[in-house]
Amino acid sequence: MSAFSFSEEQEMLRVEARKFAKKELAPGALERLKMGPMELHEAMKPLDKKIVEIGWSALNAPAKYGGHPIDAVSMGVIFEECAKVDPYVETVGAMQATTALLETLPEDVQDEWFPRLIRRETKHAFGFTEAQAGSDAANVQTRAVRDGDDYIITGEKFPIPFAMVADVASISVRTDPKAGFKGVSMFWVPLRLPGISIRPLPWMGNPNLVPSVASFEGVRVPARYCEGGEGQGFYMVVNTLDWLRVITALTCLCRAQASIEDAIAWAKERIVFGQPIYKYQGVSFIIAEHATMLEATRLLCYRVLSLKDQGLPYMTECSMAKWLSVEVSIQAIKDCMAILGHPAYSTEHPVSQRLRDVVGFQMGDGTPQMQKMIIARMLIGK
Ligand SMILES: Cc1cc2nc3c(=O)[nH]c(=O)nc-3n(C[C@H](O)[C@H](O)[C@H](O)COP(=O)(O)OP(=O)(O)OC[C@H]3O[C@@H](n4cnc5c(N)ncnc54)[C@H](O)[C@@H]3O)c2cc1C
Repeated sequence: MSAFSFSEEQEMLRVEARKFAKKELAPGALERLKMGPMELHEAMKPLDKKIVEIGWSALNAPAKYGGHPIDAVSMGVIFEECAKVDPYVETVGAMQATTALLETLPEDVQDEWFPRLIRRETKHAFGFTEAQAGSDAANVQTRAVRDGDDYIITGEKFPIPFAMVADVASISVRTDPKAGFKGVSMFWVPLRLPGISIRPLPWMGNPNLVPSVASFEGVRVPARYCEGGEGQGFYMVVNTLDWLRVITALTCLCRAQASIEDAIAWAKERIVFGQPIYKYQGVSFIIAEHATMLEATRLLCYRVLSLKDQGLPYMTECSMAKWLSVEVSIQAIKDCMAILGHPAYSTEHPVSQRLRDVVGFQMGDGTPQMQKMIIARMLIGK
């Protein structure tokens, strides 16, 4: 196993990202943690502009649209520094997934969508989950039937984050009922087309994901909007999830780290039985243990990103990082809540919001069982 360390450029980028987050993202971050999806979406617009100005919305997009290349570890650095300050600001995570999917489409489709997405005038949703297809992503029931130069799509994506506020979505559909996972295709679907209805979905956390349900009733989409060609949809879902999993792992760790910082500040301030509670090892050791687990998991995340940069397989480590990060983050936030006492149990307290968010990430991008299934298959075989 090769050793991993940050380059000088990556360390410099960390300083730059930290400065940016402190100046641009810190103001209002605690207030934004308490907002509902639509209010939060509006509050994010000025911050999106800042992300566009600094050039992070165009990272790894084609040069033709103003994009510039960057390695995965550097993206992790930007993501982490910003998510520590405001986990709801989309910096460099989702756009990488969008770029990879949009790049598979004809040039005129890219010309239409890349500039809008890079300017953050709209969002892109990604939907593979349905009533009958979640962990079993190949069991897609939404149908796409060829009709001349188009496909007619009928079905429902539930849940599909962002659909309420997005102008376009990549959705998996069944193009061949007999071909199993090879009969799944992925389509780039503009969400203003006739036959599409979208409704909000009440969720206990992660309002920044704008949870939604999207129904498709005889929606006509050009065949050229099929991403990567017919029958490639399952691979598109898997590849997209691999990237999103490491980003999810980092975002969970950032929420846990912020909770530890809150717990440390409180442990120094709160006097119980005549002394600050940090003087009790029952409190300080909890902080020490969780800080250690978070740091170890963080290094695993960077190892995943480094493997990606080296062009090496990283699926196993990615699932390890996603599963472990959610586990250690939930435990850390839960124990920090206990240190913070009853005020942290208020639904308005940032720590309780962080816990609700991280609990959602158990399922988002694949459940713990699915991560363990991937790890076991890679280690033991099918
Ligand atoms: C915060 C959040 C974000 C999300 N983002 C998106 C998104 O952007 N796009 C999208 O399409 N979807 C998204 N989802 C949905 C998510 O992908 C699904 O919840 C997930 O894939 C699991 O599917 P399911 O909920 O239908 O559970 P199911 O697949 O029904 O599984 C139910 C339970 O059975 C277990 N199970 C299933 N099969 C096995 C097995 N073979 N062995 C052992 N255990 C098994 C599962 O692990 C789970 O515990 C999101 C969900 C959340 C909560």
